[in-house]
Amino acid sequence: MNIHEYQAKALLRSYGAPVSDGRAVLRAEEAKTAAGELDGPLWVVKAQIHAGGRGKGNFKEAEAGEKGGVRIAKSVEEAANEARKMLGRTLVTHQTGAPGKQVNRIYIEDGSDIARELYLALLVDRQTSRIAFVCSTEGGMDIEEVAHKTPDKILSFSVDPASGLSDFHGRRVAFALGLEGAQVKQCVGLIRTLYKLFVEKDMEMLEINPLIVTPGGQLKCLDAKMGFDGNAIYRHPDIAALRDETEEDPKELAASKFDLNYIALDGEIGCMVNGAGLAMATMDIIKLYGAEPANFLDVGGGATKEKVTEAFKIITSDPNVKGILVNIFGGIMRCDIIAEGVIAAVKEVGLQVPLVVRLEGTNVEKGKEIIKGSGLNVIAADDLSDAAEKIVKAVKG
Ligand code: ADP
Ligand code: MG
Repeated sequence: MNIHEYQAKALLRSYGAPVSDGRAVLRAEEAKTAAGELDGPLWVVKAQIHAGGRGKGNFKEAEAGEKGGVRIAKSVEEAANEARKMLGRTLVTHQTGAPGKQVNRIYIEDGSDIARELYLALLVDRQTSRIAFVCSTEGGMDIEEVAHKTPDKILSFSVDPASGLSDFHGRRVAFALGLEGAQVKQCVGLIRTLYKLFVEKDMEMLEINPLIVTPGGQLKCLDAKMGFDGNAIYRHPDIAALRDETEEDPKELAASKFDLNYIALDGEIGCMVNGAGLAMATMDIIKLYGAEPANFLDVGGGATKEKVTEAFKIITSDPNVKGILVNIFGGIMRCDIIAEGVIAAVKEVGLQVPLVVRLEGTNVEKGKEIIKGSGLNVIAADDLSDAAEKIVKAVKG
């Protein structure tokens, strides 16, 4: 689960990390009061969406000469004006893709003078199963590009959870960032703070880009991106409360309400599978036969008729779906129950595209009979390859 920059900064502030004073604005009428509460003489007006690259992004509705999603204003009135202009518009950045994202919230914060822009991130390194630091002197811009063109400018190392974090790690970051004197101590303190926050809140990712050095030599977090482990959110009601559902894919949102593991992809074959491993294998075999999956969907081991129906609705609501492959292994689940669920779902939501069903496992014969006897236009398949071949053929001819 991701949160907005202004929410991330509030968390940073509550842990004592250096951030600017700022106000979140949800309605145009609030903009002037919010800006007026800040000191100036510079105000920075920032579109809040769950995507980076806002500064270099563009609004679909932009008028000639207008800039991106991060704007500097020299007065309260100007700041309020910029905020009003951005609210409700659609911001397109390299991370949002062409459709862009509607801006429903604005963050107005004190402008900072910047001497240097650095990059700092913490993330869970899946390879080592440890928390890793990533830092670079090349902050502010696209870190992917830095990684691609000048990988030597990025330092990355992980922390052994047994011995934990020590000042050594902080100093290592400080030296890699070219910090000197009192800044090293500040950096060591900041690294401690960020690591504590990361661990305590079960984060997956914490990115400060840019971390700046002011002309006076102070470190400050000028941007903040945070991602949290969805499986640990139940432990953090304060974080759960920060969820902004308007930022999520509507199909993924609907799926999460029914406890379905669903991830939207951009292929043409919708998949309904039980078990994450089987779902991965199903996606692989669809690709092997020359098509692309439209989604990852694991209905889980204990899928009920209701869940199967819901899963079907989500798949069929995707206009990219040109065919559906149901691939179920009845272990704990019985195939006849699944077959009944599929039939009920098809009857309820209708079927505009070819549907291939492959069943295997407990009560498989009974399941197949139910599907055959339903009179619906369902293509039965015997095994995984057969199923993939049939659905790809049905879709691509
Ligand atoms: P994004 O990464 O989405 O483009 P950032 O918050 O990193 O958004 O802002 C982009 C750039 O705007 C920063 O690299 C920095 O140069 C400038 N900027 C952002 N916030 C401030 C601020 N409070 N004061 C001065 N400059 C800022
Ligand atoms: Mg940034």
